[in-house]
Amino acid sequence: MSDAPPQIDRTLLNVLLGGDLGSAAAPPARLLLVDDEPLMLRTTSRLLGAAGYLIETADSGEAAIAALDRQEFDLMLLDLHLRDMYGLDVLRHARRRGIELYTIVVSGDSEIDAAIGALKQGAYDFIRKPAEPDELLRTVANALALHHERRENERMRQRLTQSERLYRYLVEQSPDFIYTLDQSGRFTFVNQRAESLLGYARDELIGKHYSVLVHAEDLVRARHVLDERRTGERASRNVELRLRSHYTEDTRHFEINVVTLSVNAFGVYSHENPAGQREFIGTYGIARDVSERRKAEAMVAYHALHDRVTELPNRELFRDRLEFALIQSRRNGAPMAVMLVDLDRFKWVNDSLGHPIGDDLLRIAAQRIEGCLEGGDTLARMEADEFALLLPQIAEAEAAKALAQRILSVLEAPCEIGGHEIFLTASIGIALCPADGSSSKNLMRHADIALHHVKQGGKNGYACYAASMPDVSSVKHRQQAELRRAAREGELMLYYQPQVDAESGRIVGVEALMRWQHPSDGLRGAGDIFPLAEEIGLVCPLSDWLLETSCADMRAWLDRGLGPITMSVNISPHYLDQDDFPERVLAAIAKYDLASEWLKLEITEGIAIRNFDGVLHKLNHLAGAGVRLAIDDFGTGYSSLAYIQLLPLHTLKIDKAFVNEIHTDSQRVPVVQAIIALAKGLGLEVIGEGVERPEQAEFLVKNGCHLIQGYLYHKPQPAPAITDLLIRQAGRPVAVPA
Ligand code: C2E
Ligand code: CA
Ligand code: CA
Repeated sequence: MSDAPPQIDRTLLNVLLGGDLGSAAAPPARLLLVDDEPLMLRTTSRLLGAAGYLIETADSGEAAIAALDRQEFDLMLLDLHLRDMYGLDVLRHARRRGIELYTIVVSGDSEIDAAIGALKQGAYDFIRKPAEPDELLRTVANALALHHERRENERMRQRLTQSERLYRYLVEQSPDFIYTLDQSGRFTFVNQRAESLLGYARDELIGKHYSVLVHAEDLVRARHVLDERRTGERASRNVELRLRSHYTEDTRHFEINVVTLSVNAFGVYSHENPAGQREFIGTYGIARDVSERRKAEAMVAYHALHDRVTELPNRELFRDRLEFALIQSRRNGAPMAVMLVDLDRFKWVNDSLGHPIGDDLLRIAAQRIEGCLEGGDTLARMEADEFALLLPQIAEAEAAKALAQRILSVLEAPCEIGGHEIFLTASIGIALCPADGSSSKNLMRHADIALHHVKQGGKNGYACYAASMPDVSSVKHRQQAELRRAAREGELMLYYQPQVDAESGRIVGVEALMRWQHPSDGLRGAGDIFPLAEEIGLVCPLSDWLLETSCADMRAWLDRGLGPITMSVNISPHYLDQDDFPERVLAAIAKYDLASEWLKLEITEGIAIRNFDGVLHKLNHLAGAGVRLAIDDFGTGYSSLAYIQLLPLHTLKIDKAFVNEIHTDSQRVPVVQAIIALAKGLGLEVIGEGVERPEQAEFLVKNGCHLIQGYLYHKPQPAPAITDLLIRQAGRPVAVPA
């Protein structure tokens, strides 16, 4: 079989459309009457013309041949005795030319032998002259009926070959793996996809049992699907199976040599025999490669719970495990311990020697601490330079102290990184359950107080929590009071960070970010504001204000003929929880007469999923009104795709952490790729965030994410600076509002 696609001709088109364009309205049959007796010609012509046939006449052999060459006829009435040649010569000419038509020979008695000769030459019938009108009409009608039937049969035969070619082509070119198995489960057919997908030549598979392909853990399930005997609706659909492929290339977490397929399988039966029974012949299946999607999902799920740098469990996973361990500890009455380990000079290393060295140092520290642990213990990375330990097997302070001492001493050995010799020390805070608390919150807080105690006391040491230690939270009170004052005195303001379409270089949107112009500390980031605001119930008034301010700034840009661009606003969980949240948003849009699709709300996965039904209702309401929705920091929370898919999303924002991972020299496949693929799969727009280096932007664009937000293009800036950027972009003087 050739690889070229079949020509789509009319017959094929019929097959594709499932109809029959050819036989719609059959035209009347066209007849050629050949006779050199004018009277005879006239009467026959009148008779047959009256019967509805299209008639052409020829009064000589010469004229007959000319007519045959000129056009197609369905039937010829041929007088054998013409004045310029034998009728047989006309017949011969037609045959030589491959002209297909039915011929009825008309002959007088004396020419019976010649008539028989004509039949031998392929004439259909003969009629003796002079013919009875009835007999003539009947003979012509019969001949035409037969002619028509033959032609239909031929057409049908052509159509079958065409459709077979078409089907074979479709099967072979299909992106799906298509196969048939015999009754015992051996491959009898596989399409070309087997080769590119699984790395097996067809010959290697034909005759083999399917179990050679199926991943061992999936064999039981495979039996259900691949031995499928049912047909139609009840047959197996979308069953996922892992098949072993020939390609062997292992990355760290994911097996490349396993292909996940979503299989639909059906039983195949013979035609009914006379007794009305059908025999099971085998199964037929179509399997679609879903590995990329599964891999991407697994990858995103993994990274949602693990730290990027050290691959250790992250804060989320730690909290989960701690809750679980506490339940167990309570149930078994078994004490346990938690520990916080903070590297003493990490910030200095990071700032002076650079992030890559800082990252290496973290990995070394993680490895060394891990070496001190037993199975069942959890080591997690909580934030920059802080690790947490969950120690279900440590029952009393002495054992905890011994472990802390061991950790300090393994960390002490110098680290050689990039030509530097770095000495690590750490501070460790310990809290015991139930002595220092039996809830996760209390335990962690007390470990933190103990940790601060060590830090205050000159670092490089450990301490168990004691009630006499000063509570770090008193610092908090001071900060809260300060924020209240800031809000009163107007020290809080909005900055905007442009989002750029890397392909056109144009600013297509901005994200509103909160800033605190602190009288003595200078500009503070949002991270210093919101956690505090939450604690003192300032989130809602603050959110109202920032929604209103951002809409007002948008209006000002529009009034100057700038934009429109998308305004992204971060939504705090507290604000989202307000019953009238959608109304508040819509009111701000209405007040400044904005189109709702210019406003985009950014929420994180965690916020959306926390109280899913309530949130979904509100977000649907807003999306219905045209407001856009983005998932912020995608991939860092509990990415339950099952939930996320239900949200009326427009955009996915790839978190800085994943963008950071893009290095030109990186050996690993960046998760970013998986995230972009997922976003595309869900039909969402993607924005890459925290893009600082050209190679990161390049990588994102190359992989299909061309919307970029990051220092590479623009830092967050106050509104007037954005106005200037937009004016420059417009490239023309714009109206100054009255
Ligand atoms: P986010 O929504 O992920 O915002 C992006 C953060 O990344 C911003 O930090 C931005 O300044 C920073 N960023 C952008 N590009 C780069 C880059 O190239 N490199 C680096 N290193 N950083 C970059 P920011 O403004 O400190 O905000 C931190 C978080 O605080 C935000 O994270 C957001 O969750 C929250 N936040 C900020 N403003 C608001 C607000 O008005 N309302 C609410 N509810 N949350 C806000
Ligand atoms: Ca954001
Ligand atoms: Ca973000």
